[in-house]
Amino acid sequence: MLNVVIFGAPGSGKGTQSAFIVEKYGLEHLSTGDLLRAEQKTQSDLGKLIESYTSQGNLVPDDLIISMLAKVLDTKMNKKGYIFDGFPRTTAQAEALKVMLAERDMKVSVMLDLNVTEEELITRLLNRGKTSGRSDDHFETIQKRIQVYHSQTAPVKDFYKKEGLATDIEGLGTMDEIFARITKAIDAL
Ligand code: ADP
Repeated sequence: MLNVVIFGAPGSGKGTQSAFIVEKYGLEHLSTGDLLRAEQKTQSDLGKLIESYTSQGNLVPDDLIISMLAKVLDTKMNKKGYIFDGFPRTTAQAEALKVMLAERDMKVSVMLDLNVTEEELITRLLNRGKTSGRSDDHFETIQKRIQVYHSQTAPVKDFYKKEGLATDIEGLGTMDEIFARITKAIDAL
């Protein structure tokens, strides 16, 4: 089984590279951003609550996202493994994921950290904002999300470093070049 955590700042290319990884390795893609946006779309009370966080560039509370992910893990069984995209985003989530997987006889195989400069992140997100229609792809919210990434999400890397699972991937270049670096790292496992 191959369980990949794809990690990096907003705009680092996690979603794009996840799609390539899914295609090559047959993993199930679990994107918390996609799950949250799907709930927001329904305009349910939960969806509205979620939007009150995401539209401001804030993280949704850990307990909410952790229970959401646990539910999805059980409904989307995949023998080959999973790719976790946008999760874990806090150290508490990383600890919860470890427990959640252990309870199901699984573990994280590797954490891939897409390294992209801040300048490039902002350029990419502003570009995406022109077509994505996402309420969080605006300059102020982008800055907030990068700030939240540094304060709350970057420490997740130390968690995986301690576990010996963190692998840096140069995230600048063409999509194909970046994917080649990723496959090299995965195939070396
Ligand atoms: P990006 O990586 O571009 O920020 P995502 O689609 O992964 O985009 O996430 C969009 C928003 O959804 C985040 O800014 C955050 O508000 C919320 N979110 C996604 N995943 C999580 C998570 N694991 N914990 C808390 N909030 C999350």
